[in-house]
Amino acid sequence: MKSPDVIIVGGGAAGIIAAWKSATLGAKTLLLEKTERLGTKILISGGGKCNITHDGTVEEVLQAFRKNEAQFLRPAMYRFTNSDVLELLTSRGLEVYTRPDNRIFPLHGTAKDVMKIFESCLREVNVSVLLRTPVKRLIAAANRIEGVETANGNFYCQRVVIATGGSSYPKSGTTGDAWKWLRELGHKIVPIRAALAPMYMEIENQGDLSGISIRDCVLKARQRGKEIARWRGDLLFTHRGVSGPTVLGISRIVAEQWHMGPIMLEVDLLPDSSFESVSEKISGYRQSFPKRSVARFLSELIAEGLVQAALQSRQIVVQASMGTLDRKTQNRLVELIKGWQIGEVTSVPLEKGECVAGGVSLDEVDPHSMRSSKVQGLYLSGEALDIAGPVGGYNLQAAFSTGFVAGETAAKDCETR
Ligand SMILES: Cc1cc2nc3c(=O)[nH]c(=O)nc-3n(C[C@H](O)[C@H](O)[C@H](O)COP(=O)(O)OP(=O)(O)OC[C@H]3O[C@@H](n4cnc5c(N)ncnc54)[C@H](O)[C@@H]3O)c2cc1C
Repeated sequence: MKSPDVIIVGGGAAGIIAAWKSATLGAKTLLLEKTERLGTKILISGGGKCNITHDGTVEEVLQAFRKNEAQFLRPAMYRFTNSDVLELLTSRGLEVYTRPDNRIFPLHGTAKDVMKIFESCLREVNVSVLLRTPVKRLIAAANRIEGVETANGNFYCQRVVIATGGSSYPKSGTTGDAWKWLRELGHKIVPIRAALAPMYMEIENQGDLSGISIRDCVLKARQRGKEIARWRGDLLFTHRGVSGPTVLGISRIVAEQWHMGPIMLEVDLLPDSSFESVSEKISGYRQSFPKRSVARFLSELIAEGLVQAALQSRQIVVQASMGTLDRKTQNRLVELIKGWQIGEVTSVPLEKGECVAGGVSLDEVDPHSMRSSKVQGLYLSGEALDIAGPVGGYNLQAAFSTGFVAGETAAKDCETR
């Protein structure tokens, strides 16, 4: 295609939908993707199963985002809703199911089936796709977009949609390329930080806990004793620290506050029980089973592989029998159950996250059209924007919705077709 009307940079969730919508409206649309395939992050999403979106009303979906993000996303999420995404997929044969936690997945298939449908959508409306075509910079004059420079030559067009994603999982192709070009064109880029990422920690003298998980706990992050974040769910120990839904859930706040001082992670093993009821539970256990070891008692709450590390963290002798515990030790056991200090965070690795926070400042993009306020003919979408939702299908939905609006406006803004 010599001179397309609209060029979409990046063939992920936002770029695919933007290209499809733009071409649906009759614009000659060229989708440029750096890697050898489209939708790599869709393919690895939800562990390969793809948590496509989240069930609920648009307002319920928006509630998962920070207030300023929800406000920005509102028009796009209403323009292309979670039901619209599902309609697009199910009308082409995908069956989906909603989990009890409202996350929506393909019923029988995987992320591959989702991608097959998206690729067929692009073919249906004749989107030209060039793979292995990294864009190197935007061509603009007098703050008006003219095209893009790629490793395979320049392409000129009327409108450009940026859909280059974030910078986590850099091997998937997302290395934050667009932020540099956009900064040069006058856009403010909010500092990039990890979100939905695992955490690395010093876990001293605790042996290898990797692979062991704690079910349904509350993970808290404390800085100078003050709680700064909490999340309920499962926690997984890894070779270098911790991961799992609770860790991903608090990682953005930890990454944001980490430079302000050490952050301790603490686990409430019995989040539905008060300190008093835990204390009573221990007393009852002591009376019923005075000869049983404290390790045996704790192994009824957490995996055996964690018992020694947990007890050592409160200097409780592993083999001590319950009947011999003095009042102070019993209190330490209560404190351990209600707040096991598992260690200090040493880093939140941005590249290992499911998405990043930070990106193009939202106050420089019109939420109704995704038009850049700095460069005429330029549209922004997806994770390249300063948006990061929680786990649950929210980030793909944000990419689909903003991509849809960006593609739609870019096509409608084209002067002559
Ligand atoms: C392991 C993992 C699991 C996830 N699971 C889920 C999930 O189940 N549900 C959910 O909602 N979210 C999930 N996410 C997050 C979600 O995948 C992303 O937020 C979403 O894909 C962002 O969409 P996007 O289109 O903005 O960017 P991406 O999907 O990342 O697409 C950006 C595309 O741009 C291309 N690109 C980058 N630079 C250039 C360039 N210079 N030139 C040309 N092309 C370029 C990239 O190669 C890439 O194909 C997951 C993320 C990861 C990493």
